[in-house]
Amino acid sequence: MVQVVGLSFALGALTAATLVWRLDAADIPMSGVSATEAEIAALEASRRTPAALPAHNPPAEPQGAQRPRTPSPVGTTGTAAHATVISDLRARDLEMPVAGVDDDDLRDTFSEARGARSHEALDIMAPRHTPVRAVEGGRIAKLFTSKAGGLTIYQFDPSETFSYYYAHLDRYAAGLKEGQVVKRGQVIGFVGTTGNAAPDAPHLHFAIFRLTPQRQWWQGEPINPYPVLR
Ligand SMILES: [Zn+2]
Repeated sequence: MVQVVGLSFALGALTAATLVWRLDAADIPMSGVSATEAEIAALEASRRTPAALPAHNPPAEPQGAQRPRTPSPVGTTGTAAHATVISDLRARDLEMPVAGVDDDDLRDTFSEARGARSHEALDIMAPRHTPVRAVEGGRIAKLFTSKAGGLTIYQFDPSETFSYYYAHLDRYAAGLKEGQVVKRGQVIGFVGTTGNAAPDAPHLHFAIFRLTPQRQWWQGEPINPYPVLR
């Protein structure tokens, strides 16, 4: 009997250790939400989403899993640090990333729920094939195809403090390459519905991340583009 108890303890410890290791290896956020619960939440959220709006998870893949472990709480807009970042970006007077879109056309979708996650980006609706432009100069850090984001571009700003993320593209501009330095306003791609965007709702999913000191294209703190572009 003692042996059996001892064995199950040992197995329990082993399972726990394996689980922790697997979580670390996969770099999955410790949200405590099981896949099934997340899927149900996503399904429910998509049912609540009006048909005209794209129902999807944020396509910032590799996902938030690989962002810093301390997610920025909703309402960071109020902190001094965040306000400084917003005013720094505002001062750059960024180009509107979608041709023909005015400030007034923008809707703040940054804090909207997308399944179990927060959107952390703007969805800018536009007809398919509308040119997508670099919001400022800088280096194309990565051309990445993800399940959620489809055809995407990660572009760093000139100081490599921020990454601009453009997703659901129909295609890239001809000849666009990783490492290429693009000019402000340069056409880098075209609006589409690749990834998990609804086929009848073409839009640009646009995000801004403040990079970590390591300057890895997949990692950063999300910054709301809405007050930056308005
Ligand atoms: Zn989006």
